[in-house]
Amino acid sequence: MIRFEQVGKRYSNGHVGLHELSFRVRRGEFLFVTGHSGAGKSTLLRLLLAMERPTTGKLLLAGQDLSQITNAQIPFLRRQIGVVFQNHQLLFDRSVFDNVALPMQILGLSKPEIAKRVSVALERVALADKAELYPADLSTGQQQRVGIARAVVHRPALLLADEPTGNLDPRLAAEIMGVFEDINRLGTTVLIASHDLALIARMRHRLLTLQRGRLIGDGEAV
Ligand code: ADP
Ligand code: ADP
Repeated sequence: MIRFEQVGKRYSNGHVGLHELSFRVRRGEFLFVTGHSGAGKSTLLRLLLAMERPTTGKLLLAGQDLSQITNAQIPFLRRQIGVVFQNHQLLFDRSVFDNVALPMQILGLSKPEIAKRVSVALERVALADKAELYPADLSTGQQQRVGIARAVVHRPALLLADEPTGNLDPRLAAEIMGVFEDINRLGTTVLIASHDLALIARMRHRLLTLQRGRLIGDGEAV
């Protein structure tokens, strides 16, 4: 599903985000990417979203070469991807339902189709009974689950998360990771950037470790 072949990213100011990074991810895998601040985690995610282009090497996502992708192809690429952010980025003046429906409305789906998919997505994160509430009515953990529902409502093949538990206490963080595992079990490839090593170690998934833009570890977390 993902193939990095000697991918390098040098920013225009000369900073190197990634040095000749090579790894593969199979469809349906669940993996973490970790590393200190500045290690290249965000650069890796931005390359997968085609927010940045590699400066060297080849980057394939579902057979598409992201080093060659045209701007016109980017919306189609993004439909295959869901993204979860640390600060969930919900709209506080819209209901839970409307927050989750937003990506579907942008795709122009019919109202009944949207309603069906939103309720499936909210069920997946155990918030089916909260659709009419507003984000401010929910706990922090529930808000993050709404963010996950919004990220998977269009049934992406790949789910990316950038420090999704950064603001949560350990119990809530573990609960959110359980939600990611449930989504992965249904077939979605899940890649999570996180520096919460204690939590990662408990989960026994593949872990890529970056240090100053280089891959220094690839294996099960211990
Ligand atoms: P935003 O992403 O909200 O537009 P900024 O405009 O502050 O944020 O920064 C643009 C991007 O540059 C951010 O994603 C930030 O993480 C990234 N960045 C990280 N390190 C550096 C750096 N040393 N120099 C410039 N930009 C950096
Ligand atoms: P992490 O997400 O692991 O903290 P980043 O991918 O943000 O790491 O950063 C990796 C390296 O690339 C750092 O040296 C950072 O300063 C640099 N960098 C990241 N974004 C930018 C940017 N937009 N412009 C210039 N340098 C950047």
